[in-house]
Amino acid sequence: RRRPKPLRFQRRKWPDPMPNQLTDGLPLAGKVFAVTGGARGIGAAIVATLNARGANAVAFDIDPSAAPAGSESITCDVTDEASVKGAFESLNAKYGRLDGIVSNAGIMLEKPVADTTLEDFDRVIAVNLRGVFLMAKSALPYFRTDMPDADKPRIVNVASELGHLGRPEYSAYCASKGGVIALTRALAREFAPGILVNTLAPGPTDTDMLRAEKNYDSWVKDGEGIPLGRVATAEEVALAAAFLCGPDSRFMTGTIVDVNGGAAMY
Ligand code: NAD
Repeated sequence: RRRPKPLRFQRRKWPDPMPNQLTDGLPLAGKVFAVTGGARGIGAAIVATLNARGANAVAFDIDPSAAPAGSESITCDVTDEASVKGAFESLNAKYGRLDGIVSNAGIMLEKPVADTTLEDFDRVIAVNLRGVFLMAKSALPYFRTDMPDADKPRIVNVASELGHLGRPEYSAYCASKGGVIALTRALAREFAPGILVNTLAPGPTDTDMLRAEKNYDSWVKDGEGIPLGRVATAEEVALAAAFLCGPDSRFMTGTIVDVNGGAAMY
């Protein structure tokens, strides 16, 4: 693939949208998004939030049985190239277009290094990091890179505040999420100017994943270390994802959006 020319040399083929289109009630009308891990938790909230803005958002999930009634899903294991390619083919057969992907599928591992097997480590990296790469690579042939600014295709990844921070007993998870942040920055530069690539870095968010953690009670009851005093809801993370999928984020690429109630990251 030829590298796109730098923006300053690019002639606009399409007129810019009128400013009032940026804040219309259905800013994603007619657009098609694939949301990995969209059957549950943050992913399911992202599917619902994109749909509420007029999109057709489809969950790509290894276990679509958990998806809320009425939401659309395709069985997909993000670690497996054939499975990811097949999911995009099914989506394309139905809608014939792709406006963005949200790479949200992830697994958590809470174990001291001494107890973490290589299989454990590789599995976390395969879902949380290789899955993000595979989704981006497999989406490319379906994206149009000649869109006006507000309609450029979007890649929105879901990292974690643990991609910035080291936490004891989360080594594989921290490594995978740090990788998602670095991968986002690299993809943003490689895919500019045609495709916008950003990542969310949520703090603790009240989903099944968080509920399975050892110190769930202290986070939920006390909002430990969170200036806003509590963990996020899945819907609050989804609002940031919808912003990154929509016209209002048209001049953002390669950014890490922290959704963490003000916890100090740097
Ligand atoms: P969750 O466990 O509630 O849901 C994860 C979803 O991903 C499930 O529907 C599951 O079936 C799907 N999934 C798992 N492996 C998959 C695979 N190989 N292929 C396709 N789908 C797969 O988790 P969540 O809390 O909603 O987390 C979503 C994302 O947000 C994850 O990447 C997670 O690391 C990240 N995150 C979560 C929190 C939190 O506190 N919950 C904080 C920061 C970041």
